[in-house]
Amino acid sequence: RIKLSQDVPDQESLYATLRKVEEWLQPFRLPKEKLREVSARLRKDLIRGLGKHTHHRAPVKMLPTFVRATPDGTEKGDFLALDLGGTNFRVLHVRVVEEQQKMVKMDSKICAIPQEIMLGPGEQLFDHIAACLSEFLESLGLKGHTLPLGFTFSFPCEQIDIDKCILIRWTKGFNCSGVEGEDVVKLCPVCHSVLPMAIHRRGDYDISSVAMLNDTVGTMMTCGYRDKSCEIGMIIGTGTNACYMEEMKNVKRVEGEDGRMCINTEWGGFGDDGSLKDILTEFDVEVDRSSLNPGVHTFEKMISGMYLGEIVRLILVKLAQEKMLFGGEVSEALLTPDKFETRYISEIEDDATGLARAQDILSELELPAGPEDCAVVHLVCSTISTRSAELTAAALATVVNRIRNNRGLNHLCTTVGVDGTVYKKHPKFSHRLHDTVHILAPKCDISFLLSEDGSGKGAAMVTAVAQRLAMQSRL
Ligand code: BGC
Ligand code: MG
Repeated sequence: RIKLSQDVPDQESLYATLRKVEEWLQPFRLPKEKLREVSARLRKDLIRGLGKHTHHRAPVKMLPTFVRATPDGTEKGDFLALDLGGTNFRVLHVRVVEEQQKMVKMDSKICAIPQEIMLGPGEQLFDHIAACLSEFLESLGLKGHTLPLGFTFSFPCEQIDIDKCILIRWTKGFNCSGVEGEDVVKLCPVCHSVLPMAIHRRGDYDISSVAMLNDTVGTMMTCGYRDKSCEIGMIIGTGTNACYMEEMKNVKRVEGEDGRMCINTEWGGFGDDGSLKDILTEFDVEVDRSSLNPGVHTFEKMISGMYLGEIVRLILVKLAQEKMLFGGEVSEALLTPDKFETRYISEIEDDATGLARAQDILSELELPAGPEDCAVVHLVCSTISTRSAELTAAALATVVNRIRNNRGLNHLCTTVGVDGTVYKKHPKFSHRLHDTVHILAPKCDISFLLSEDGSGKGAAMVTAVAQRLAMQSRL
């Protein structure tokens, strides 16, 4: 399956090596039957997460978002947005224009969050965010103006309303103290959260209303503005997750039987009760063990960008130790956690430039790599990214099949709004995902719509829809 470069001296020996490694990598290859099983397990977990009495022990949290409608096109206004939990922290000024049915990003600013802040006290994190917003408003001459705020906070949160949002746990690279179990919102009278205090503390600007949302929800909402049948949002980036429109009668933890509500599945937690034990490898166990949050977000750790490079690195070390790679040698760099970046996988799997790039990357990592080593590394990368795409497909198949069943449809046509660096940057990931989900959910026709800044513009859209609904109910 690998295009060999001309300069491999001994093709026969190369094929023999690749066959050996291929066999060694077998535990990472999941047959379609296994993927179907995984999808069926998740189906049960979605139901457990939604149930009143099963929820508290459910690994897949199925969190109500209090988003009850997708955009109807009459939304308008100016909004501020915060986006925390993706690749960067950003503040944005977004204008939703009614007549032209579009959202315009007026201005935005990226603020780096140094690692000591990601791992420090929550108060410091929210002070940092507040300072960044303050600077942004100042530079725009917007200080003193009152704009509604949408806050894309991409972590599992228990929402009690659109503006009350309790962090269940940090994921990805964050681990700030004093935030888990607290409300992250301002403008809530009984709020113990850190952000509002940070904003009050600064006291130099004022925000009229706030909507909290997950990045999956922002993604669904921005795509929903362009395509009315978009009712699923999916992220495969630093972390992974999806949300979708569920029937209110199935959302047992929220009053009301009519209509629908967007549910944030938090499918990254799938497997946290041990249900994926049969497909976990020793490398997955090691990635979990050395992570900031051992024991949780098992599924995410097999799929998302924060972990894929690390899985590959651990495999390369082991292959070298077993004398199947680099002539049995390992370098200091290869033994350093996170040194093999997830973006390398995307680069190495590029058909045109991948093998040359592999050579460069391996030299940078001070590894004695010949053409045969490059071919082996390519095989490892494609095995790991394929497993990620296929597992994501199994999970997405569960969601679309559920929507189809909910509506008693024989056939469902739907659109998924997608975002995330792994999905967008990897040359083959999206094709593999599409092909596999097509096999696992044959009665669903799925279109995939790339979100254009769902975490930023989506925050404005969720706030705009919430304001529209609030105005309507006031009339
Ligand atoms: C978080 C989700 C988020 C996802 C993608 C996960 O780690 O738990 O809330 O949607 O990452 O950013
Ligand atoms: Mg994002």
